[in-house]
Amino acid sequence: MTIYSHSRISTFEQCPLKFKYQYIDEAEVEVEGTAEAFLGSRVHEALEKLYKDLKFQKINSLQQLLDFYNSEWEKNWNDNILIVREEYDKNNFKKMGEKFITDYYNRYAPFDQAKTIGLEMRIEIKLDEKGEYVLQGFIDRLASPKDGIYEIHDYKTANTLPTQDDADTDRQLALYAIAVKEMFSDCKKVILIWHYLAFDKEVRSERSEEQLGELKKEVINAIKQIESTKDFQPNESALCNWCDFRSLCPKFSHLVELEDKKPEEFLADDGVKLVNEYAVLKAEEDRLAKKIDELKEKIFRFAEAKKLDRLYGSDAAVTVWKKDCLKFPVKEDQCYQEFVKLLKLQGLWDDFSILDKYKLQKAFEGGQIDFEKMKELARFASKEMVKRLYLRFTRAN
Ligand code: SF4
Repeated sequence: MTIYSHSRISTFEQCPLKFKYQYIDEAEVEVEGTAEAFLGSRVHEALEKLYKDLKFQKINSLQQLLDFYNSEWEKNWNDNILIVREEYDKNNFKKMGEKFITDYYNRYAPFDQAKTIGLEMRIEIKLDEKGEYVLQGFIDRLASPKDGIYEIHDYKTANTLPTQDDADTDRQLALYAIAVKEMFSDCKKVILIWHYLAFDKEVRSERSEEQLGELKKEVINAIKQIESTKDFQPNESALCNWCDFRSLCPKFSHLVELEDKKPEEFLADDGVKLVNEYAVLKAEEDRLAKKIDELKEKIFRFAEAKKLDRLYGSDAAVTVWKKDCLKFPVKEDQCYQEFVKLLKLQGLWDDFSILDKYKLQKAFEGGQIDFEKMKELARFASKEMVKRLYLRFTRAN
């Protein structure tokens, strides 16, 4: 039985190929994570130390905590850590962490809001009665402000603040709440608390028993989808810039290879030569397509003025075809539903409706159809290799 985690499932949802590299192939890459992830780890360590020492009645001063953070930063930093935003350097990230820790310290000192029960606490979340689906997680800090009340604290170093709605639908801490409820028999309430350190702000939420029950079903379905996947396709998004596997990914490995080349080596690369030639021809094709459209318009106008249906040239003739065609409502039209109802009533729907195969294929591949239904539909699906080229200019001409 594979033990899943929330980040395993999120990685699959973000990009199935990244999931494969990370969890199936356990691929090794030169990049050792991003500066953002490094910053997150160092800040987590400092806050863990703060509460760990408190258990031993030791209150670190802010300066002691910052000294610890800075020394861990210097010990662990190396040049393989990726800085995506080139306008910032290592020191910018380091200073961000100092500010996060300072704001947190000043807001919560002397840290007596609740009793700390666990730090970086490993938990197991049982999703079904039989124990077939189990998730593991780590709670940054589990605390109890009074008997029967538990707080799950999570430190966030991200630069975006979620809305209350985002917090109320967040999956990770809600899953942790399932485990906490099972672990402590006196548990009456679990409060989910995110500390958005860049904003010096707390975001809180709670979940009902029904919501947690629904969540278990959702997560089991997500796991079933991962386990039935055989073809792990890349899913390109803005997050690719922070992906550790760019040097392996078919969408980016050529770019990574080119990054270290000198200008003359870059232009001599076979891939670069092919793309440059294709881009020139495509631009020519687009120019010709525009010219053909203009010419067609001229022919229509000429034929209409002369009342002709066919025009003759030296070696070719052009026939002009025109007809007033009937147009029926489309999905976006207000009367579409009424129109469909009428077709069904007249027994004509089966003859004249078409199955939207493209939409079905997208929903199927994107896992937007219920897992059991997908299994039944899979009997009718076959594979066919479709090849296309998409040209995109990567810098302004
Ligand atoms: S670079 Fe993007 S598409 Fe490629 S594996 Fe990473 S997340 Fe997926």
